[in-house]
Amino acid sequence: MFVDSYRHKGMRKALVRQLREKGIRDENVLRAIENIPRHYFFEKAFLEHAYQDKAFPIGEGQTISQPYTVAYQTELLELKPTDKVLEIGTGSGYQCCVLLEITPNVYTIEYNQALYNKVLKAFADLGKKPFVFCGDGSEGMPAYAPYDKIIVTAGAPTVPRALLTQLKPGGILVIPVGNSNSQKMLRIRKISETDFTKEELEDFKFVPLLGKSGWQ
Ligand code: SAM
Repeated sequence: MFVDSYRHKGMRKALVRQLREKGIRDENVLRAIENIPRHYFFEKAFLEHAYQDKAFPIGEGQTISQPYTVAYQTELLELKPTDKVLEIGTGSGYQCCVLLEITPNVYTIEYNQALYNKVLKAFADLGKKPFVFCGDGSEGMPAYAPYDKIIVTAGAPTVPRALLTQLKPGGILVIPVGNSNSQKMLRIRKISETDFTKEELEDFKFVPLLGKSGWQ
């Protein structure tokens, strides 16, 4: 049975203190990290690792992102409670649950069938209700576009043009772009259908974005 004890809650408070020290300022993001039981997304044997600020394997060669990375990407999105968000790379479902703490309107897509099957159960157990899909998200999800915000949680070789198209004017895309060793976090704002601004931020190391507009 899933237990969220005082000890777990205490470890989350300590994690939030660390994230503040590392520069995360958005109170909605910090509150979301404090609310979501990250240990739920870990195998029993690894529970002790859940509140370290580290990425961790979730099977299928994939990882649950480091809490700092989750907080950093979420903060960059400047999320509002009315935003419609697309997440590419559902993985464990942790990042998605953090997004859901701020807006109920989250679409998420996972490429790996086994992880998709697992995450459906995780969302059901936690009572979370994102719109979840299995497939190649490297070209977004045109069927439900446009989105206010798009977050990519795997490293892309380039910015997929389709993601820019699926953003609303005024919208934000947060995506790590680079080679297999290191990616630069980009925040791209869509000013109008033809105008964009791009900020190049910190370096990260993500698992690769696969698929048509990802790594082949
Ligand atoms: N957001 C996740 C979490 O909170 O656990 C972290 C996910 S992990 C760093 C990246 C995920 O992206 C992996 O689960 C991987 O299978 C998925 N992925 C890779 N390429 C993809 C694609 N083209 N479409 C959708 N998901 C993809």
